[in-house]
Amino acid sequence: MVVIIAAIGLATRGGDAPTSRATADPVIPSVTTPSASADQLGPLDQELVSIGQKGVSIHRAGGRRKVVALTFDDGPSKDTPSILSILKQNNVPATFFVVGREIQAHPEVLGQEIAQGHQIGIHTWDHPDMTKLSSAKQQTQIVDTQNAIINATGTPSRLFRAPYGAVSPSVIATAEKNKLLSVLWETDTNDWQRPDAATIVQRVMSQVSPGTIILLHDGGGDRASTVAALPTIIKELKKQGYGFATVGDLVVSDPPTASDMSVDGKGVTE
Ligand SMILES: [Zn+2]
Repeated sequence: MVVIIAAIGLATRGGDAPTSRATADPVIPSVTTPSASADQLGPLDQELVSIGQKGVSIHRAGGRRKVVALTFDDGPSKDTPSILSILKQNNVPATFFVVGREIQAHPEVLGQEIAQGHQIGIHTWDHPDMTKLSSAKQQTQIVDTQNAIINATGTPSRLFRAPYGAVSPSVIATAEKNKLLSVLWETDTNDWQRPDAATIVQRVMSQVSPGTIILLHDGGGDRASTVAALPTIIKELKKQGYGFATVGDLVVSDPPTASDMSVDGKGVTE
């Protein structure tokens, strides 16, 4: 029996949006009853849930195909429509890890994401470090966001990304309990620090490999640099022969190996 939890060192933790949002507002319960069940599973969902049931986070796919997943965290925001427009012009699917409390200000954006063939993941309600919360509070962060996603799109998400990439066995267990696959990233652009567009492009191109999951941001602050970089990122990756998939399609078509997953965000070396 192969032990899945052994993993290579994971040099992907760290980059994410600032912490200020975590203390701003209390968690607001969902005000309407979701139209779909949070446990509802499609055929592709079942495979994602099965990987999640191994008690791991994934940070990339298996690398058998020259395909990558663009992921955008911290939205929806005023910049998300620009990103959706660029993705549509280039016929590129992506995955959006949304912050629950931002959905209320931009409810139509999630519907556009689904309509364009993108995938939505849960990035908590208000972006706390989940490793510092009790299991009950972790659960509230996930359930409230899942309900907001269901209310906006009619479909539950099967993906979870921890703010700051901060996961622990407890956080992964909470994701697993909610039939979510915990997804980290391999290629970190640190775009939330607002470097110029050329730097963001360079960071993608210097780190990319088949099966990589690329971290970008469509919220959490002004994302003009990310919007400016995105057309060139897509053009350069296509020039090198890369295709694009949602995280779900990438993972199901090119399953992660033991070295593509870990029990915490730092990886396990022994
Ligand atoms: Zn984030």
